[in-house]
Amino acid sequence: MRKLLFESLIRRPLTETAPSPDEQALAELAASLGRAARRHLGRSLSIREVDAGSCNGCELEIHALNNAYYDIERFGLRFVASPRHADVLLVTGPVTKNMREALERTFNATPDPKWVVAAGDCAVDGGCFAGSYAVAGGVATVLPVDLHIPGCPPPPIEILKGLLTLLQPQMSKAT
Ligand code: SF4
Repeated sequence: MRKLLFESLIRRPLTETAPSPDEQALAELAASLGRAARRHLGRSLSIREVDAGSCNGCELEIHALNNAYYDIERFGLRFVASPRHADVLLVTGPVTKNMREALERTFNATPDPKWVVAAGDCAVDGGCFAGSYAVAGGVATVLPVDLHIPGCPPPPIEILKGLLTLLQPQMSKAT
């Protein structure tokens, strides 16, 4: 026990080194996304997250968008509690057979214009859950998907880039 206590004093903690912050790149990306949303929609972008059967790894990355580091609300992007207030459905996980109807009803409750974003490898094609008896497939097997964001899980910065990609073609149509 004494040896263990002594080693804990001299050993470094078993944690990963924090990524080097690139605050400026993040601020530019999120500001572009905020501007794109205001230009195309005339207001901020409202996102409804739907977990269609994920392992919650993707949710952890999506939640990070609201933490003190990413803090996307400062750029006018917000997560909403109801699909009736949403512009984007951000769907994670393979669509399980139990969640299929709920996902379809959420889509039908979202007003037009709306976009569906499939976030994470499971949402793209079922990922590591593909072929399971409980899984209907990727999000595209149930809903029309406008954008796929691959990754297991996709990091927050890739989710932001994906949302910007979604709005940019709309901006070029409007100009
Ligand atoms: S893509 Fe990876 S992190 Fe996301 S739900 Fe699937 S297994 Fe989990």
